[in-house]
Amino acid sequence: MEISNYLQIKKKLPGNVNLLAVSKGFSSEEIKTIINEGQTDFGESRFQEALEKQLILKDLKKIKWHFIGRVQSNKIRKIVQNFEYIHSVDSYEKLLKISNISFEEQKNPLIMLQVKFSDDPNKGGFNPKELTENWDQIMQFKSIKIKGLMTINPRGLSSTDNIKLFKKCRVLADSLKLKDCSMGMSGDWKEAIEAGSTWLRLGSIIFGNRTY
Ligand SMILES: *Cc1c(COP(=O)(O)O)cnc(C)c1O
Repeated sequence: MEISNYLQIKKKLPGNVNLLAVSKGFSSEEIKTIINEGQTDFGESRFQEALEKQLILKDLKKIKWHFIGRVQSNKIRKIVQNFEYIHSVDSYEKLLKISNISFEEQKNPLIMLQVKFSDDPNKGGFNPKELTENWDQIMQFKSIKIKGLMTINPRGLSSTDNIKLFKKCRVLADSLKLKDCSMGMSGDWKEAIEAGSTWLRLGSIIFGNRTY
């Protein structure tokens, strides 16, 4: 990995933009190299892979683990037990289950709700209109803290179109009085900052190319 990429990006970030280092596909040793540079937040999308690294790094109490992968219903308890943030909650049913399990486990995960702003059949997420309509009910779910919205833009958009889509996420988050927008990956992070992202999720631009 190129530590210089990491350092350069960090230097460019406005003060209100957080950097989530997406370490899926990379080892605990690689994670440690940027922990030494002050990185605290790490994102993983495969549960089993994440647990192995968490075990190795368990003495580094400063690390905050974020789950960013598809939330499978039968893994929710394990996710709640092992992650401080969940960025990828994509349905009402899963949110309710996370809430109930968090209550049982006496955990208070920080949640980003994944919202879908384009018709990509391969991506899940809340429909923006339905989210707004159900908001009062969602706010009553106990034991969770909804911090913001998360979105993934389709690949290959122009810079202008990326900004337009990201801004929809920012506008919806503002209308729901949510501070955070988890948006922007290696290919579109500059656009995400321009549109008001507060959490960039960066993998390959920091760690190099993944094998998956
Ligand atoms: C893999 C992944 C990322 C990081 O992607 P890069 O293009 O490598 O920066 C960000 N968000 C999610 C949800 C991912 O699965």
